[in-house]
Amino acid sequence: MAEVVLEGVTKVYPGDVTAVDNIYLTVADREFMVLVGPSGCGKSTTLRMIAGLEDVTAGTIRIGDRVVNDVPPKDRDIAMVFQNYALYPHMTVYKNMAFGLMLRRQHAGWDNPLCWLLAPSRYRQARAERAEIDRRVRSAAAILGIQDLLDRRPRALSGGQRQRVAVGRAIVRNPKAFLFDEPLSNLDAKLRVEMRAELKALHRQVQTTTVYVTHDQEEAMTLGDRVVVMKDGIVQQCGTPFEVYRRPVNRFVAGFVGTPPMNFLNGRIVRENDRLLFDEGDNRLVLCDEHQRRLAPYVNQPVVMGVRPEAMRAAAGAPSGSTLRIAARVVEPLGDRKDVYGQTARHHRVVCRLEAEAPVCEGQPAELWVDMTRVHFFEPGEQGRNLSLA
Ligand code: ADP
Repeated sequence: MAEVVLEGVTKVYPGDVTAVDNIYLTVADREFMVLVGPSGCGKSTTLRMIAGLEDVTAGTIRIGDRVVNDVPPKDRDIAMVFQNYALYPHMTVYKNMAFGLMLRRQHAGWDNPLCWLLAPSRYRQARAERAEIDRRVRSAAAILGIQDLLDRRPRALSGGQRQRVAVGRAIVRNPKAFLFDEPLSNLDAKLRVEMRAELKALHRQVQTTTVYVTHDQEEAMTLGDRVVVMKDGIVQQCGTPFEVYRRPVNRFVAGFVGTPPMNFLNGRIVRENDRLLFDEGDNRLVLCDEHQRRLAPYVNQPVVMGVRPEAMRAAAGAPSGSTLRIAARVVEPLGDRKDVYGQTARHHRVVCRLEAEAPVCEGQPAELWVDMTRVHFFEPGEQGRNLSLA
């Protein structure tokens, strides 16, 4: 196992397409790091550069104590799992899993019984290699619960089973690092959630350093020890799932992480009787103590208030200065809770996640209490900086 370090890594494709722009990233030994971002943000290119499938335009990539920029993929001691599994259709599960190891044998071909007469020591070494491969394949199959499928061919497997074989093929190699490129995208929603939990349990067990690419923020948040949120080839934020959720550095990260996404309300910071308020145009909300201090330099300036759907509650009659009045347009029941899509006079989309019993009905006005200790204030603009962080 090893750490994976990217320093100033850039990738420019022909046609002057900068896919990855000066990335610095350290994936610690045994860490599960997830690269996440919208399609085209450069996450697969980053992974493929680590794997050696793409050249690096600038910067260095280190795996363990070796700079691998010029090391061919097969010598990097990494194992990659792809979205399409890439299994050999004519081979059994066993052979699919053993294939990579068989190719790397030093005494391949010497385990033919005739060789015992010609070169007994090579024959014995060849047999030992084969036994070791067998042990590794069976042990990986046991970890993944596919012992009974070893004689099947891929076409006789379900999507989830194929995915396990692809992962098994990576485990048997016992590499320095696993690289996963959207490995669950081809599975249906239920299986994806199951496999997600299995991958996490697997990582706890084998603890191999892992870099995992997905466009699905929920997958990223549930799997990663840390997540790297990317946009336009640039790392926006790298942190634990809790950090990127609770302390997003900018509006892009804030809006990308969490479902339903954070609401963004344009407005201004105003001063009234020595207190700072956020004026949304139709509603005025008093800032919490911490924001009173932090937002003082922005009085009378336009800012964007970000409030997560889960940071609001139905609150008819709550004191003014802590509520947002909306007209509820659509209510989506979700069993134990419900998502309410509403609007204010100034903002046509305000989503809140309420308890199922909350007295909010479609077509009715509703009053929402906003937990002002959990809101964020951003500079205007799609990628506006978070002003409420220290
Ligand atoms: P992601 O995995 O985040 O969806 P990619 O790393 O695949 O993004 O792509 C990042 C950017 O690089 C995109 O703009 C994409 O169109 C471009 N790109 C990817 N591969 C190539 C290529 N072989 N040639 C030119 N441009 C490419």
